[in-house]
Amino acid sequence: MTSTTAVASRLEAVRARIAEACARAGRDPAGVTLVGVTKIHPLEVVREALDAGLVDLGENRAQELVPKAEAAAAAGLGPRWHFIGHLQRNKARDVLPHVHALHSLDSPALVAEIERRLPALAPAGAPSRLRCYLEVNVSGEAQKHGVAPADLAALLRAAAASPALDVVGLMAVAPLVDDPERARPVFRELRALAGAHGLAGLSMGMTDDFEVAVEEGATIVRVGRAIFGERRG
Ligand SMILES: *Cc1c(COP(=O)(O)O)cnc(C)c1O
Repeated sequence: MTSTTAVASRLEAVRARIAEACARAGRDPAGVTLVGVTKIHPLEVVREALDAGLVDLGENRAQELVPKAEAAAAAGLGPRWHFIGHLQRNKARDVLPHVHALHSLDSPALVAEIERRLPALAPAGAPSRLRCYLEVNVSGEAQKHGVAPADLAALLRAAAASPALDVVGLMAVAPLVDDPERARPVFRELRALAGAHGLAGLSMGMTDDFEVAVEEGATIVRVGRAIFGERRG
């Protein structure tokens, strides 16, 4: 089996599992966007993913996204890039021109930085807003990025007031657990927070827990290993 068919068949399997989770929850699969996370993987894998029908791809590090997005563009490939990792302020200028959506807005300082950078990057005259999800550290783990639930309202006020941003929802990374059921309360909490703040988008669910996330209302899932295989390095 060539790697192209491996990616294509794994992608098909993931889509089927999303559809089954939707059926269990009485949801329309069209309401779930699949982002294929290509981190660590080379440009060839980006090409395979697009050939297999993926449109949305995710990266979590600026140092990897920028060269990969530039190489993809040079090769005539145009995925919609999603930035899903912590974005340092000093990397915002490099990353913003490439991304369709930012999943990890986590501080008023980053809101200010994007507001400062974005106008210069947009085509002249075009009102450009960056689609973003506010990352919430629902589980309160010290090593996790994201705003504490108690600070979400203030961050949302700052982001919603910015002409540079289009706040579409919330994002969370569930704790690493062996039983995906244990991620369910985190997803429920994120959905409750989004509902309380009138936000419809929910970026949640990865290889180990995307079905539970879909059952709990995910509108966009970020899946790497289940599509592209284990990451080496
Ligand atoms: C790597 C990563 C993913 C994808 O993880 P898999 O377990 O490979 O599906 C999703 N979200 C974020 C923020 C990541 O860093």
